Amino acid sequence: MLVDSHCHLDDKRFAEDLDAVLDRAAEAGVTRILTIGTGDGPPGIDCAVRIAERYPMVFASIGVHPHDAAKVTTQTYDELRALAANPKVVAFGEIGLDYHYDFSPREIQREVFTEQLRLACDLALPITIHTREAWDDTMSILSEHWKGQAILHCFTGDPTQARQALAMGFHLSYGGVLTFKTAEHVREAARITPDDRLLIETDAPYLAPIPHRGKRNEPSMMVETLRKLADVRGTTPEAIAALTTANFERLCLRPPNATRYTEVSDGN
Ligand SMILES: [Zn+2]
Ligand SMILES: [Zn+2]
Repeated sequence: MLVDSHCHLDDKRFAEDLDAVLDRAAEAGVTRILTIGTGDGPPGIDCAVRIAERYPMVFASIGVHPHDAAKVTTQTYDELRALAANPKVVAFGEIGLDYHYDFSPREIQREVFTEQLRLACDLALPITIHTREAWDDTMSILSEHWKGQAILHCFTGDPTQARQALAMGFHLSYGGVLTFKTAEHVREAARITPDDRLLIETDAPYLAPIPHRGKRNEPSMMVETLRKLADVRGTTPEAIAALTTANFERLCLRPPNATRYTEVSDGN
């Protein structure tokens, strides 16, 4: 059992062969996938829900990526609220700040991030956070506006940043970057992350792990990251798979959401 806690199955690179991608995932032991609902921004933020409705193993998040913050209107928040009623929606995100690309003005990114934190809190959903070259602003907004569960997705920080996020009660999700030669600081962070705060993801179709680097990433490739994570922490892939699965279930599939999943059994 293995959970990919962050990927983008709505990406057009999966449009031709999504069934085969999910078959390969299941063969590799990936039993659950959280697909992220940010898409190309409003109004297409129902993309993950639509995919999750088609495949029992797929769960959905909803939210607006910082790249698309400038496209948000008041209708967007109404739409997110309505989508949250879907039983396959188990998380809010990815939300946060991206000062690398600056596709939306920073001031608007901060506003939309804060507003979505309010909404996620209202909806009692855990959040998945995207932060790039915006660490300090991300952490200060979170410490002011967020008290619930959070996942720092594709964590690529160093041990100091890991400790800061862990002290705030957050989970750290490691992806393909963990296998990159230059990512020793990420491996050091992965070494000090407690068992009960650890998650694993692909961020597919992006960031394929070595030896697939540069190719389209997909959930089945997560076994490379799993092996590296086990190696770094001096344990077995099976042990990492078990504890990251338990962490995902506790975060996203248990109360207050638990009663919403009775019709989705294990192993689908
Ligand atoms: Zn991201
Ligand atoms: Zn992502």
